[in-house]
Amino acid sequence: MSPQRSPTARALLTGLAVVFLGAFLGLTTQAAQEPAAARPDAAKKALLGFTTSGSEKQRALEAQYDGTLSADNLRTWMKRLAARPHHVGSPYDKDNADFIAGLFKSWGYDTTIESFDVLFPTPTVRVLEIVGPDKPAVARIAEPTLREDATSSQTREQLPVYNAYSIDGDVTGDIVYVNYGVPHDYEILAEHGIDVKGKIVLARYGGSWRGIKPKVAAEHGAIGCLIYSDPRDDGYFMGDPYPKGAWRNEYGAQRGSVADMPVFPGDPLTPGIGATKDAKRLPRDQAPTLTKIPVMPISYGDALPLLKTLAGPVAPVAWRGALPVTYHLGPGPTKVHLKLQFDWSLKPLYDVIAKMPGSERPDEWIIRGNHHDAWVNGADDPVSGMVALMEEARAVGLLAKGGWKPKRTIIFAAWDGEEPGLLGSTEWVETHAAELQQHAVAYINSDSNARGFLGVGGSHSLEAFASQVARDVIDPEKQVSVFERARALQIVRGTPEESKEARTRPDLRISALGSGSDYTPFLQHLGIASLNIGFGGEGQGGSYHSIFDSVDHYTRFIDPDFSYGIALAKVGGRFVLRFANADVLPMQFGSFSDTVGRYMKEVTKLTDDLREETLEGNRRLTDKTLVEVADPKVTYVPPALKEPVPFLNLSSLQNALTKLQERTKAYDEALQKAYAAGAPGVAASAQASVDAVLIQTERALVTEQGLPRRPWFKHAIYAPGFYTGYGVKTLPGVREAIEQRQWKEAEQQALAIGEALDRLSAQLQRATELLGGTVSAPTSAANAAARP
Ligand SMILES: [Zn+2]
Repeated sequence: MSPQRSPTARALLTGLAVVFLGAFLGLTTQAAQEPAAARPDAAKKALLGFTTSGSEKQRALEAQYDGTLSADNLRTWMKRLAARPHHVGSPYDKDNADFIAGLFKSWGYDTTIESFDVLFPTPTVRVLEIVGPDKPAVARIAEPTLREDATSSQTREQLPVYNAYSIDGDVTGDIVYVNYGVPHDYEILAEHGIDVKGKIVLARYGGSWRGIKPKVAAEHGAIGCLIYSDPRDDGYFMGDPYPKGAWRNEYGAQRGSVADMPVFPGDPLTPGIGATKDAKRLPRDQAPTLTKIPVMPISYGDALPLLKTLAGPVAPVAWRGALPVTYHLGPGPTKVHLKLQFDWSLKPLYDVIAKMPGSERPDEWIIRGNHHDAWVNGADDPVSGMVALMEEARAVGLLAKGGWKPKRTIIFAAWDGEEPGLLGSTEWVETHAAELQQHAVAYINSDSNARGFLGVGGSHSLEAFASQVARDVIDPEKQVSVFERARALQIVRGTPEESKEARTRPDLRISALGSGSDYTPFLQHLGIASLNIGFGGEGQGGSYHSIFDSVDHYTRFIDPDFSYGIALAKVGGRFVLRFANADVLPMQFGSFSDTVGRYMKEVTKLTDDLREETLEGNRRLTDKTLVEVADPKVTYVPPALKEPVPFLNLSSLQNALTKLQERTKAYDEALQKAYAAGAPGVAASAQASVDAVLIQTERALVTEQGLPRRPWFKHAIYAPGFYTGYGVKTLPGVREAIEQRQWKEAEQQALAIGEALDRLSAQLQRATELLGGTVSAPTSAANAAARP
């Protein structure tokens, strides 16, 4: 799993929105060719948390670091790590962990392999048969070996095409085509008088994270779920299929987890605790994140015969893919038999953990991670990110061998079991929760990497810091900073509003994180400030979670000379080195309160829009206009009347936000003053005290009780959507309650978020005092807002 880099298909596949990666191709050079002086990033300012002279030293250190990076290492390690399939439980997964650990040790790190035992099912029986209306046929459900792809022939070691955490099942039923299979799609089906009870749904990949499709299908009474890759989103419609081009071919299929990860990620048997040898495990039939119905992914080659014979109404225009058939909804007469059985034994995980102790503040930990396990060979996902991280670790090790010492402790991590459900990172975080809550400063994640634009998502207290890092790394193709290129993308491809803002705003906007890679347990379970980084937008998709995610594919279509692997190592290395060396942690909070203000406006608008929509929808029902428009020769079932949307009281959140905006302003000004040009910075004796408060600022944003119906997710600001999967929901408690029309819950959640913001305000006040700044008296509005 990963934030996907390549244009539309991969974004669609995961449903993940990555800021700066929303629209890609054909970047014009107009913005990039404006004179540098006209642009806001021209001046090299002092680094956040460093004095002016400290910044100079730091930049010199980074130049030294850059000078040791080598693309040849990335290429060599990718060939080594992706040489054979290395999924969880495979011999080569362990072999890779040992190899990575050996290198970390040789670079001077205190290295351990930490092991866990997790539920990871692998298929023993996979049958998909067409039983009607035409003569019986058996689906292929296998990807072809290609002469042009050297590792595609390793069939003995490859995991077959399947979805992990589908239950065992043996079902026969009529097919219903459900488009992407998200909740709204079932409303459209209902208007056509179609339900899926007792049926097997055929959903296409995209529109949400894949695990949402069987979840929603089961909620509607389906007995089985097939997910196929439509060439419209992921195949010949996008570009030439592999091996001629990069894109998914006729029998290419997407493996992937379908566990209910929005409830909790990690081992399904040990929610909230580490899956150690003697951990108390749930019985499998009580594991809440396994699917309720059997699920299997198929290629478009296997989907075409099912769609060909499907009858019933013609699918709405937006539901049609690029296969050469008229898309019908069903149900039937296409009828299939789906039988799945799995080996449900526990499998071992091997997390590689490499530490370099801090010389001054060893109890403050900077953690940098990427996963090493793959679905098959995984050259792109995850090896392209992994080798950049390894090069960072090697180069940081060289600096240390030359006499430099980090102030704070650096931890490099290579996670196992990310693909089935963030297993390695989640089990490690759950096992070490207490010490991480105390010591973890930040977690920096990467996953796949490709040519193109820098994408950064994460905690908005790190937005200014991330922008500074991006200004100091040069894009290998365009020779402007990666900041400048990301900004140009925003100007050219953004909405008019985004475009205008990008020209004047000093910082890039970083996206909020939902899920889809290993930052989730750090950020959303423990409240550790996190970033997810990577380049993309120019590499070509099509190999995601298939046997064709190979060195051959990667070096033809994604980052042939590894120059963006090196760019990632420069970005990741700077995050690590600046975090490790700064006088005080490089956090700024103006962006955070500004961003929460934007989210607040969004949920207010969401409620207003929903109120309008509900009024108008109900009016069309009562005045019969909907029925008058419907074709009487076509089945039309009007929707039910909806409860009107009340005016919600979100004042507790609004008031807390107003107070927070004042506190963040005071903190940022105090920091700015302490580190103005020539200023001495924070006294050495006070630095650790400031850090101690800053470390806890993200922790203030987690709530004890977590989100309704999914208490594992505790962050009040960022969560993956319950019905989007990877896609983020900001202010999730309030936003999802509104979307699900739970008005009372929305108000209760506003209270909980307000309390979290108040905790952050209190910490910022303390940090401001430590910096020697003053806290302005609250305005009357904020005063009136103060609650007991
Ligand atoms: Zn990945």
